[in-house]
Amino acid sequence: MTHTKPESTAVPPHLVLLGAPGAGKGTQAALLAAATGATHVSTGDLVRAAIAGGTPLGRAMQGYSDRGELVPDDTILQIVLPHLADPAGWILDGFPRDVAQARALDAALAAQGMDLDRVLALDIAEAALCERLQDRRLSAATGRTYNLRFDPPPPGDPGPFVQRADDHPDEIRRRLQVYHEQTEPLRAYYAGRGLLRTIDADGPVEAIQARLIAALPANAAGRAHGYAP
Ligand code: AMP
Repeated sequence: MTHTKPESTAVPPHLVLLGAPGAGKGTQAALLAAATGATHVSTGDLVRAAIAGGTPLGRAMQGYSDRGELVPDDTILQIVLPHLADPAGWILDGFPRDVAQARALDAALAAQGMDLDRVLALDIAEAALCERLQDRRLSAATGRTYNLRFDPPPPGDPGPFVQRADDHPDEIRRRLQVYHEQTEPLRAYYAGRGLLRTIDADGPVEAIQARLIAALPANAAGRAHGYAP
């Protein structure tokens, strides 16, 4: 197989990745970013970085984030909207989280003369989600996410390996409830506009990535063609 770098002349892709907490959005978005050349924009990572940095915005968000609740829309918009102008294109992971945010995204894109190319929804059974989240650990050294059972840290990563405050059982239940009530309606919102593609998110990471690449719009698929992340 030929391994070519993504073409810099192609139209930059504008993608949204949807899925419940634990569906593998972060892992898949990072691989998809490498395959397409687009920037991975994770609002969860941006929130955690602001909290770790102790900024006023970070302090305002910490309580919501620790409890597994959504932070207020105006705050999350301040964090995410500057990334929309990225000339490489983007893969939004964790945003929009509800219909109000989706409308705010539409308005921001329209104001910049941009379109959303596709919304990719990762589908997985709830029992598998809880299992993945409880065993998830974040390396304080490398920022990489592992799963103690399915993807344990390699000897080269010194750790320490920490559990996210919102990956404990009560917070996991709360986040799944928030997802069902507020985020799931986005599927109908985007399906009605013909933008939604649903991806089976059970199985090996590489197989799920191949399904995502097969579901890309032509501009992003062209970039990903022949490029193995
Ligand atoms: P995640 O890593 O995507 O699960 O996000 C972790 C936490 O960051 C969430 O539980 C929220 O508190 C906050 N967060 C991330 N993205 C958003 C968003 N689009 N809207 C509101 N809160 C968000």
